[in-house]
Amino acid sequence: CGIIGYAGPRHAQNVLVDALRRMEYRGYDSAGIAVWTEDGLEWRKKAGKLSNLEAELAQHPVPVAHLGIGHTRWATHGAPTDTNAHPHVSSDGRIALIHNGIIENFASLRAELESSGIAFTSQTDSEVAAQLIAREVGAGAGLAEAMRTISRRLEGTFTIVAMDAHDPDLLVAARRNSPLVLGVGEAEMFIASDVAAFIEFTREAVEMGQDVVVEVTASSWKVTDFEGNPVEGRPYHVDWDL
Ligand code: GLU
Repeated sequence: CGIIGYAGPRHAQNVLVDALRRMEYRGYDSAGIAVWTEDGLEWRKKAGKLSNLEAELAQHPVPVAHLGIGHTRWATHGAPTDTNAHPHVSSDGRIALIHNGIIENFASLRAELESSGIAFTSQTDSEVAAQLIAREVGAGAGLAEAMRTISRRLEGTFTIVAMDAHDPDLLVAARRNSPLVLGVGEAEMFIASDVAAFIEFTREAVEMGQDVVVEVTASSWKVTDFEGNPVEGRPYHVDWDL
């Protein structure tokens, strides 16, 4: 339901939880974050109010990190439990992602992955995207290339933001008929489903079309279509009052 990705110098946990707080008005039933660390991806997720996630983070904070993703979930496939909350992490631990929307063909994709020996941990449609990307990067694709490949296979609506344990700097997002906006800060970037997530940090936004993949680091962004052709973003200034 609410999506935020962050790359930059701040403590990612704080930015992510702040952003989720600002998207609470959209409604949700669970919340979670994941961050990149040298020792692998770290994540926390909890059913219920954001305060449940905050209580978990107070007890078990994630390490200081500069790349991360956060999500508030409105369950469509799978009950609102801790396990079904996002982020979803591939069974090899390499890919973490968050997803808004519905992957209509998840059952056949899941069956295909399970028949190749991949064990799922959740009941969500979203987890197939994490497992599919992991399979692509495991076969040697870059994260953006993997995202484009799987986006061509996913049916339905989605905003997805993914990170790779092998890449400390990169977030890759994809969208089809679902909201996604980039926030461009001073040596930091935000990628979100809603400008409310980041207007406290920056008012410089970039709107992209549908059916695009966006590669984001703290200092750069790049948009392509699902085939890899360059797509122009439309920069604008957000001038609402907080
Ligand atoms: N379909 C996904 C799920 O049930 C994402 C729901 C959402 O948009 O929050 O987990």
